[in-house]
Amino acid sequence: MAEQHLHGTPASPGVALGLVWLRPERIDDGRHVAPAEREAQRQVALGALSAAAEALRELAAGLDGEEAAIVETGAMMALDPALTQSVADAVTADGLSAAAAILRATDGYAETIAALNDETLAARADDVRSLGRRAARLTSDDLAREQPPGGEVIIVAHDLGPADVAELAGSLAGVALVGGGATGHAAIVARSLGIPMVTGLAAELLAVDSGATVVLDGTAGSVIVDPSSAVSAATATEVQRNRRAAKRARAEHSRPAVTTDGRKIAVLANVASRAELDAALAEGAEGIGLLRTELAFLDAPDWPSEQQHSDALRPILAGLGGRCAIVRVLDFGADKSPPFLGRIPERGLELLLAHPDALLSQLRAILQSARDHELVLLLPMVDSPSQIVETRGLLESAAGELGIVSLPRIGSMVETPAAAADARAIAAECDLLSIGTNDLTASTLGVNRFTSGDGVAHDPRVLRLIASSVEAAHGAGIPIEVCGEAASDPRMLPLLVGLGIDELSVGAAQVGAVRARIRALDAADAGRLARSTLAMEAAEQVEAAVLRHQRPSESTRGAVQVGL
Ligand code: PEP
Ligand code: MG
Repeated sequence: MAEQHLHGTPASPGVALGLVWLRPERIDDGRHVAPAEREAQRQVALGALSAAAEALRELAAGLDGEEAAIVETGAMMALDPALTQSVADAVTADGLSAAAAILRATDGYAETIAALNDETLAARADDVRSLGRRAARLTSDDLAREQPPGGEVIIVAHDLGPADVAELAGSLAGVALVGGGATGHAAIVARSLGIPMVTGLAAELLAVDSGATVVLDGTAGSVIVDPSSAVSAATATEVQRNRRAAKRARAEHSRPAVTTDGRKIAVLANVASRAELDAALAEGAEGIGLLRTELAFLDAPDWPSEQQHSDALRPILAGLGGRCAIVRVLDFGADKSPPFLGRIPERGLELLLAHPDALLSQLRAILQSARDHELVLLLPMVDSPSQIVETRGLLESAAGELGIVSLPRIGSMVETPAAAADARAIAAECDLLSIGTNDLTASTLGVNRFTSGDGVAHDPRVLRLIASSVEAAHGAGIPIEVCGEAASDPRMLPLLVGLGIDELSVGAAQVGAVRARIRALDAADAGRLARSTLAMEAAEQVEAAVLRHQRPSESTRGAVQVGL
């Protein structure tokens, strides 16, 4: 059979080879229930909803931090009185079967949310639908028992809930979805559990037979159905190589990340949960380079209180074992807007400074935590040095109230061309610069970071901004890190080290691989390469130069290695 190539959105990095599993779903059977049977069906429907809530609660109990909170929210939704009422009404008044009533009520709820035309709320709509499918399956004993077959399985579905990914994690090699998005909750859980995932694939994927062979590349966002034996064999080799590399990375976690000519690069982790921190430490992370505090509050009904901030921070920081954490204040806005904010134009620090009480609550929680841990306070989407001065003023007044004399260091993110252009003045006001290449690439090249694969951080226009930011930081005598996805891109590593970056903060599952690549790199050589790329015109030229520079054994592996 001919190979079928499908392209979607990269949602969780890594490569997988496996057999398709289309989980059988309960469908709306359209059966009309006679009045005499309706009470029994109503009981079945409500029983399935509470069984779904119970299963989600149990699942949440085995997870940590952000993943637990996401799954727990599903349990609460299942028992939402408005939802249970409309399910009950659909059975008793309209004569729908238990499964049909659940699917109709949850779809209706999801559609209302999705119609708000907000990317974040659309992700919640997927969660509601997945809850409906889960509860509908529970109305049938056969479907409730359905489990993935053994071996390497790639689940193919329209969309999946975060709980589905967490629950099936042990049996899945990869996830391929027609719906969903890279910022959806299922993707967040897949990334933190290291399961490759692609979203936004063409609907024809759903017509693929269960048991068909599939190659999935969660880094490139591609799927190949019925791959040729050569492609299957190459992918199987890649998967094995990645597994060996991950195992080696764990075994070598205590070896320092030092280049062959003796330059030490700190490798830290991007985390939002304790589970991610533990996984990162096992691979040798030297601390947290970016704690995305907003991810714990994407469903918050209001600005989080000081207590809620402390409750979210405490379990993560408790795992640090004396290492440093760079804790970013809430980066709400754009795709990370909880429902209470609606659709707001502001983002990051600008938004927080417009709500000083909310910022003060988080600053107080961070100051309290900094009594026991070494923390750096990181400011997102900084536009100008005056924003740092204003934040420092608030930090000082919060510290004054709490009787705290020693303030944490302050870091500023460089995520826009404006911030990069002003990097000298920004660096003069803080103790660390942190380049967010995800936003910097998108804003410099004018692409959408969530839907487009067009913009790459090795575009010379982005590289020039990174180079000038490094100069600004070092000119001010402060360190500079990179914490966007580019920090773990093998093509970017020689460029970032060559341009003088001091620290890299990467996804938990990438820490060991990045440390190993640093040990194989010559910093002086990388410096010559990086400087030569600054005068180039196109990303393709940069990529070709990097590939020429890499040793032949590495250059043949290609982009799939990003997901190591
Ligand atoms: C970035 O923009 O690169 C970054 C690290 O911030 P976030 O991905 O959380 O926007
Ligand atoms: Mg950012």
